[in-house]
Amino acid sequence: MNPLREKIAGLIRASGPMSVSDFMSLSLFDPQHGYYTTRQPFGAAGDFITAPEISQMFGELVGVWAASVWRDLGETRGGILAEIGPGRGTLMKDMLRTVPKLIPGFLAENSVHMIEASPRLTSVQQKTLGDAASDMRWHGAFSELPDGPLLIVGNELFDAIPVRQYIRTAQGWRERCIGLDEAEELQFVAGPGTIDPTLLPAGSLQAPEGAIFEAAPARAALMQQIAERIAIQGGAALFFDYGHLESGLGDTLQAVMNHRHDDPLANPGRADLTTHVDFAALADVVRAAGLIPHLTTQGEFLLGLGLLERAGSLGANASAQEREKLSAAVERLAGPNEMGNLFKVLAFSSSSRVPAPFQ
Ligand code: SAH
Repeated sequence: MNPLREKIAGLIRASGPMSVSDFMSLSLFDPQHGYYTTRQPFGAAGDFITAPEISQMFGELVGVWAASVWRDLGETRGGILAEIGPGRGTLMKDMLRTVPKLIPGFLAENSVHMIEASPRLTSVQQKTLGDAASDMRWHGAFSELPDGPLLIVGNELFDAIPVRQYIRTAQGWRERCIGLDEAEELQFVAGPGTIDPTLLPAGSLQAPEGAIFEAAPARAALMQQIAERIAIQGGAALFFDYGHLESGLGDTLQAVMNHRHDDPLANPGRADLTTHVDFAALADVVRAAGLIPHLTTQGEFLLGLGLLERAGSLGANASAQEREKLSAAVERLAGPNEMGNLFKVLAFSSSSRVPAPFQ
């Protein structure tokens, strides 16, 4: 028996079909049974491996980016270095090896913050950060950060923020929801909600029956908060995620359990649930806040910041076996058939200087 499935079925029985957004929220963040609240998702023993867990080079290069952008911003004091959605805390651990090397006074003059929605993952991160954790602060939401110029990074955060789905039916576009079939199993249904067709990407009015559109108001709202704050208080932001650089139609809701794809409705709370990130939509939000968004692929970004040089210097005094591991990591992070093209990067800064490596 899956207690979260029973809870969801009970809610549907009581109040009718549930939006994909509510289903994602409950699956990922239900306080008793949610995936991020109860599971250990990351790493070889978990359900999936993320870029910072593949190699220390990822976090080190993000540190190089942070130091470079911090210089563009005039190395202000009283600034805030933050990560949102830090998982196990590995990215920040690796960044904190690099940033103070490149900007020696950084830790004395600025503070380091983590924003994590899951209390369980917060304690995992505190363990990973070890001694460094005592000088850092944790927050449950972005709005809790103290004021000041902000350098914020996030990896695979936006894909975990719930989306709504809409489906083209004979009666027009309707919200795609989750209901119950005769056997009381969860199933997708077209709910009563509709969408303003002007919000759909160009060409969608001719879309065939069954076509699906994903809208992510919660992602846009978070990006708006971040971009508006940076526009006013100064700073820069960097986000990695899998997704597309142009908006379009399509169902990208996917569940992953034990490194395998799973039916998204089969194991609520036990499988990770994500959708691809629409980077064009997020870039529009950044533009609306008066800042210039820069978009590229993870491969281009990491190679532009010196991934090959970093692998070369780590490999210089390493054993043949370690060198092989390094080149496998380079391939996984930046190879066009691995994460290099599928994963995209969005960066922006309040400085008039174009952030590295987009110059
Ligand atoms: N960045 C990590 C983990 C990615 S998984 C890595 O690359 O390994 C997504 C992370 O975002 C989890 O830590 C999850 O608990 C957190 N999260 C999801 N929504 C959030 C939100 N709105 N605010 C803060 N953290 C969030």
